[in-house]
Amino acid sequence: MPTVLSGVTIRDQILNELKPRLAALPRPPGLAVVLIGHDPGSEVYVRNKIKACADLGIYSDKLTPPEDISTAGMRDIIAELNARPDIDGILVQMPLPKQIDSRAVLEAVAADKDADGFHPTNVGHLVAGRPAPRACTPAGIIEMLKRYGIDPAGKHAVVVGRSDIVGKPMGLLLLHANATVTICHSRTANLAEECRRADILVAAIGKPALVTADFIKPGAVVIDVGMNRIADPTAAKGTRLIGDVDPDAMATVSSAYTPVPGGVGPLTIAMLMSNTVELAERRLRKPS
Ligand code: NDP
Repeated sequence: MPTVLSGVTIRDQILNELKPRLAALPRPPGLAVVLIGHDPGSEVYVRNKIKACADLGIYSDKLTPPEDISTAGMRDIIAELNARPDIDGILVQMPLPKQIDSRAVLEAVAADKDADGFHPTNVGHLVAGRPAPRACTPAGIIEMLKRYGIDPAGKHAVVVGRSDIVGKPMGLLLLHANATVTICHSRTANLAEECRRADILVAAIGKPALVTADFIKPGAVVIDVGMNRIADPTAAKGTRLIGDVDPDAMATVSSAYTPVPGGVGPLTIAMLMSNTVELAERRLRKPS
């Protein structure tokens, strides 16, 4: 029977370990969350992030600018947050409305308040293997592998997906953990064949159950990042969540896998909390 890698268990460990660090700070860390519009997914994510802050004793401030705000207007809001002494971390919930230049907004966040690790300076630190806030989802996956005793060193890791949020940082973190890394995407020829070479397979695609049993090397570790809501008339709400990997395939062919839900999802928020505490520690240690 494969090991089910529980994101809930690892999340709880990570959050518990943050508690003494929070207690040692002269004031609670502050996280600003900027949410524009009414995308249902984004609203749920933001609600969960703010609840996680409240549960842990992190101060959070939710800002909801009008939906028709311009890029310049967003930059002004970010500039104010950059200057606020009670705010250590800033998170801009994606996606932003079409009229806004998302890249310009992410670049406006001060690199030392970048709770999501998306600022180009922090991406540069990631490439160079230097300490800096890391993108939460891939950082959570590395934490999970470590805590389950799965060492990527010398293994062949295949990441499907090359987004700035998951795929690319995941590939780099696995590389820093001494895996031999292949990154696949929508233009990869022979995707199943590439995936079958993986000792550690990470699927971050956004396509329900695209990865089937023939993509998985027997005994591989499979990390399913995908969160796809699909119609299911038998489910209470008429929909259900499914990952990018066929759940039956993971449960029969892998040696260990992350379920959906309850696998990667809980880790993302835990790492956001971890990044926020770390940013506060650095800020409060700095001579003023
Ligand atoms: P993006 O849409 O930004 O990226 C998807 C990637 O998958 C792209 O690189 C794309 O390739 C690749 N891709 C798409 N179709 C195929 C295909 N048929 N074959 C091979 N590669 C393909 O998504 P994200 O990285 O933001 O998210 C991926 C998934 O992870 C989503 O389901 C999302 O909901 C989930 N997610 C879950 C999180 C969690 O906390 N559990 C956090 C973040 C995301 P190309 O670049 O060529 O277009």
